[in-house]
Amino acid sequence: MAQLTDDCFAHGGRLMRTDEALALLQEKIDCVTATETLTTADALGRILREDIVAPGNIPPHDNSAVDGYAVYFDDLNAEGPTRLRVSGRQAAGQRRIEAPARGEALRIFTGAVMPDGPDTVMMQEDCTLEDGHVLIPAGIKRGANRRDAGEDVTAGSKVLFNGQRLRAQDLGQAAAVGRAELQVSRPLRVALFSTGDELREPGEGLVAGSIHDSNRYTLMGLLKSLGCAVSDLGILRDNADNIVSALDQARRDHDLVITSGGVSVGEEDHVKHAVETLGTMHAWRLAIKPGRPIALGQIGGVPFVGLPGNPVAVVVTYLVFVRPMLLRLMGGTSMPPQSFPVRADFAHRKKKDRREWVRVNLQRNGDGSWNAEKFPRDGAGILSSLVESQGLIELPEDLTQVEPGMLVDYLPFSEVIG
Ligand code: AMP
Ligand code: MG
Repeated sequence: MAQLTDDCFAHGGRLMRTDEALALLQEKIDCVTATETLTTADALGRILREDIVAPGNIPPHDNSAVDGYAVYFDDLNAEGPTRLRVSGRQAAGQRRIEAPARGEALRIFTGAVMPDGPDTVMMQEDCTLEDGHVLIPAGIKRGANRRDAGEDVTAGSKVLFNGQRLRAQDLGQAAAVGRAELQVSRPLRVALFSTGDELREPGEGLVAGSIHDSNRYTLMGLLKSLGCAVSDLGILRDNADNIVSALDQARRDHDLVITSGGVSVGEEDHVKHAVETLGTMHAWRLAIKPGRPIALGQIGGVPFVGLPGNPVAVVVTYLVFVRPMLLRLMGGTSMPPQSFPVRADFAHRKKKDRREWVRVNLQRNGDGSWNAEKFPRDGAGILSSLVESQGLIELPEDLTQVEPGMLVDYLPFSEVIG
């Protein structure tokens, strides 16, 4: 792809709305991953990089939907039962045999090709068999229990699309149209760092003033669940030279560099200087809560994303901005996660012109609808609030007050976090 230019993420320092930020990312970010051929069985979770067209009809031939007897509907009595001689037998996987003569029935099984002539299948459970004849009760509809050629997929139609992320049923569909191999994106190579003198690895003891690094573990999970090949590059100390050499190394063999922490404007926030030494960086002041600053830039043409340090801000900014960015880098078409309306079971004030995400749990009402309860501890540093809640309510910029009973937009974590 074309390398990113110095000013590609420039944005004049104004407070930026979510839609504006997403539009800018959409415009500046392109697919960078090469394609590879995988067997269909191995392609789960990958981005498909070709359209898949069905070469033939599915099913390829009219066939029976049940075990029973294929008959000519016009041979059946409208009132009362019909007695037909059974001639012939057609099982699944056999070539089509001669059609029975008019006035006769054919023994047939689920998935077996319909012979040329009979148009209707009687379920065996509804029939009685007596000395080579079948007794068929009245009341069946013409064409019942028969599946038409092409009723699932018509020959020549597109069944899977370039840019879609392959789910289990998509692999089944690829196999159904006969594809043993698929062209997919190679995994996006992501370099991941944490920054901060206070951070220690889990397993290491804590000394005064230190905490365990959690963001890297959250981010590794998020990135891997989207199919990225993550290089865990550890913790960077708050030391400019150290950060410069680590980032310079990382950009050489990765498609994207992600850090968390160190991108506010404090004296100890060295990431900005380091990235600017190697390339360019623009701090985006986003009109969001939680989150606020994220940094976007490039190091030698490789995109760089600096996420905030606070653990909840990391997840929210990842879900809203980084996830769509990753999908785009991998050649995916836009796949907005599906949120749905639920009733707020809480009151909440918010600032106008800012988009906010509130952590909630759902409760089922007597009428089957859902109520969202706000998680009580809502600081941007409260990681346990993400563990103990089920999803996020997204509150739009214009809104200033949530009242109990109001319809609000709910995004389950299960939609976006693997
Ligand atoms: P910073 O943006 O570096 O000032 O960090 C903001 C807050 O997030 C501070 O309280 C940090 O200690 C915390 N923080 C930064 N990085 C991590 C991390 N990797 N894991 C857990 N907390 C972090
Ligand atoms: Mg820090």
